[in-house]
Amino acid sequence: MTPKSRMQREAATVETMIRKYCRLHHNSDDDLCSECRELLNYSNHRLARCPFQEGKTTCGKCRVHCYNPAMREKIREVMRDIGPRMVLSNPIMALRHAVDGLRKKPLQRRKNR
Ligand SMILES: [Zn+2]
Repeated sequence: MTPKSRMQREAATVETMIRKYCRLHHNSDDDLCSECRELLNYSNHRLARCPFQEGKTTCGKCRVHCYNPAMREKIREVMRDIGPRMVLSNPIMALRHAVDGLRKKPLQRRKNR
């Protein structure tokens, strides 16, 4: 299995968490409710514009707070609520996210990998 890129991983993690949150709190099935869909679109949009790209830490630890206050509050609520559940339901994803978050500072692009 080829490891996904840092950015794909972050996007996948955020999407998984928002979907779980919506299922739990908004009684949605396969589709997100409009509020959660908006949040997911917003976070993908921010991620695509992240200045650090592959060198980024996780959004929760990033020093650049690029979310607007309303969206930031929503995503924080999702992370607070779903974060602990991820350890049980998606342990590998949770572990990789924790490792990604150990980067305190964004990395410079490496020459070869
Ligand atoms: Zn929802």
